[in-house]
Amino acid sequence: MGVELYSFKEIEKIKRACDVVVGVLQAVAKSIKPGISTYDLDLMAREEAKKRGAKPAFLNYKPPFSNDRFPASLCVSVNEAVVHGLPKKEQIIREGDIVSLDFGAYLEGYAGDSALTIAVGEVSKEKELLMKATKEALQEAVRVCVPGNWVSDIVDAIHRVARKHGFYPLKNLGGHGIGRKVHEEPFIPNHPATLAQEKKDYKLRQGMVVAIEPMLSLGTEEISHNGDRWTVITADRSPAAHYEYVVAITKQGPLVLTEFENG
Ligand code: MG
Ligand code: MG
Repeated sequence: MGVELYSFKEIEKIKRACDVVVGVLQAVAKSIKPGISTYDLDLMAREEAKKRGAKPAFLNYKPPFSNDRFPASLCVSVNEAVVHGLPKKEQIIREGDIVSLDFGAYLEGYAGDSALTIAVGEVSKEKELLMKATKEALQEAVRVCVPGNWVSDIVDAIHRVARKHGFYPLKNLGGHGIGRKVHEEPFIPNHPATLAQEKKDYKLRQGMVVAIEPMLSLGTEEISHNGDRWTVITADRSPAAHYEYVVAITKQGPLVLTEFENG
């Protein structure tokens, strides 16, 4: 165990896996409309991954916090759901929802992972601002991904942007190293209290590749569960937004490996 360092050649391979992930997410995002089920979105993600010769990374994945394997390829987290949203046939997307799509895949032995939040039709002003702030938190976190900085600088950037806008980063969740495996060390908390609990910080070094994934909510820092054994929700059921990029730490600065068409 420990933090993996990757060569430029390996980083190119991680980039190829990330390209697949972004392609899948963009295809699924385009299909989101009122009336579609979150289960349909999962099927679509599976199909899109297959087309690209990649293997979904979350299907049958057993995270350290569970004895079960995740039964879907895509995490779909709607409104108060933060992350790990379990797709369901009976869960129908409606106008005004915000929907986080989180997808990971393996291609030729390397992993990609990314997430974005989609507004379905007209959403409330506060949901719109929440999405914007979460994206800004991600951009600010990416900026500090340079050799010599620390994981705590990423945590601080996310927290600072969230509080500036009056929103909250959620505790006990965060990003991670990525490369040969979809989840590697270090854990990158979104909340300073979670970092303090971890009792360790990591210096960012050239060759580290990290998935940064701020999750912000309108009303609380605390998380809860919705009873389906997977979906994490906000404790006060206020809406949450989530974006995730993979970033390689290089001498030249942060290199974002998840390139989306519209930023
Ligand atoms: Mg991730
Ligand atoms: Mg993800």
